[in-house]
Amino acid sequence: MRKYVIVTGGVLSGLGKGVTTASLGLLLKASGYSVTAIKIDPYVNVDAGTMNPYMHGEVFVTDDGGETDLDIGHYERFLGMSLSKKNNITTGKVYLEVIQRERRGDYLGQTVQIIPHVTDMIKQMIGEVAEEQGADIALVEIGGTVGDIESLPFLEAVRQLALELGPRNVAFVHVVLVPLLWTTGELKTKPAQHSVQELRRIGIQPDIIVARSRVPLTEEARRKISLYSNVPLEAVIGNPDVEVVYEVPLVLHGQGILRVLSKKLGLAPAEPELSQWREFVRRVKEAGKEVSIAMVGKYTRLRDSYLSIVEALRHAAAPLGIKPVLKWVEATDIERGAIDVSAVFEGIKGAVILPGFGRRGVEGKIRALKELRERGIPTLGICFGLQMMVVEFARNVLGLKGAHSTEVDPSTPYPVVDLLKGQEKLKYLGGTMRLGSLPIKLVPGTKAWKIYGGKEVVYERHRHRYHINPRYLDAFEAAGFIVSGVGEEGLPEIMELKGNKFYIGTQAHPEFKSRPLNPAKMFYAFLRATVGV
Ligand code: GLN
Repeated sequence: MRKYVIVTGGVLSGLGKGVTTASLGLLLKASGYSVTAIKIDPYVNVDAGTMNPYMHGEVFVTDDGGETDLDIGHYERFLGMSLSKKNNITTGKVYLEVIQRERRGDYLGQTVQIIPHVTDMIKQMIGEVAEEQGADIALVEIGGTVGDIESLPFLEAVRQLALELGPRNVAFVHVVLVPLLWTTGELKTKPAQHSVQELRRIGIQPDIIVARSRVPLTEEARRKISLYSNVPLEAVIGNPDVEVVYEVPLVLHGQGILRVLSKKLGLAPAEPELSQWREFVRRVKEAGKEVSIAMVGKYTRLRDSYLSIVEALRHAAAPLGIKPVLKWVEATDIERGAIDVSAVFEGIKGAVILPGFGRRGVEGKIRALKELRERGIPTLGICFGLQMMVVEFARNVLGLKGAHSTEVDPSTPYPVVDLLKGQEKLKYLGGTMRLGSLPIKLVPGTKAWKIYGGKEVVYERHRHRYHINPRYLDAFEAAGFIVSGVGEEGLPEIMELKGNKFYIGTQAHPEFKSRPLNPAKMFYAFLRATVGV
């Protein structure tokens, strides 16, 4: 019988429910179970693809082209497996399906209601993913905070699920904040108590409370939470701030979370095999050599906007024994002259030109690229980063004045980056980019080919509407900016500048496939170049 672990959140959002869910997933997987993790987002958007990163952080792309919530990225990294777009369920997706069925006449004259039709659809979607992915245990994280109007149908659906499957098969984990009162330095449990009350009012009694706090939970706080939440003392698990997120599974395990969960779900006790994970965490924490990396982008004020890239750098740094120190360079500040571009890269060992959309900050990125290219600082351009490398090179090396991407300047005399075929007359912007895992044919002998271990073809994930215009390639190649990876339709996927140690741009996003124990090769090669090995 398949088991479900439902993770809810209380007090406020942004507590790291995603990391808690991913950590539990890792512990169960390392104990020998096949697991999957599902993220429920109660917003009405069908997917995260149409959302500004400032609203919701990075849009994570799956192999099958889903534009999903960034928690799917946490799950993939902790579980070491690729998930599907189906692992992210939203209110938009649920209602879209219910309304389409209603229009088709599938409900045969019934009044279509939240209970049972919407809640049935939620349960069906959860069940289908778990079934398709052959999970012994499916973790289901419900986004938002208990008490939100939007999350009610989802909580109701999982309440029903527990009733239908029985208490041995569904466990509820509630993640709460235990704030530290600044006047007295005390850990306060009242908000946690209230959020558990709210959950119980909905009909859900949590089995485990994970308490997020700045400092380790005191025994007094633990006892209070236990008493008021009606969970045994051993089921109150502290989750204090840690240096690296990858420590969280170890912290939870250290307090016996698996024991409590196994008892509840009737699982045989097992000791998870975590030696490689522990070794990775040790390396990250002990890395001594600091390497300054400039991160050039325009959503730099919300770090979650580039989460997978930051994580990919961490993964790649671990085996090199280095600690990347990120210096965020806001492209719009360069553009308006608030940053002196000739000084900002002093002491910087490498730069990542971050993905992006639209006009804002573009001239700043181009200015930064000129500086980086001329100084020979190792530079990795990702997606829009590659596109801007091409624009900068066209203007400043090939002398194509006014060269641009038609995304930014539709009437440029030199459209070196242009709209992909088939994108001209789209009715819908949601889900219509070139998305997901696609093959890249590598050109033998190039740096990219060597980086990928001499492979003929590699797969990376994509998310773009524009592409390098092949019309100008001869001029680029003649000047030393060569194509080293080609996509299915013959369009350039990777370009690299001869002569510079590392000046490489990739249309794909290698960060999405980077894992703690298996870093993305492109990031590993980039970091190697920054330390000169
Ligand atoms: N805006 C660019 C495009 O659509 C790049 C997208 C990206 O950086 N992900 O092609």
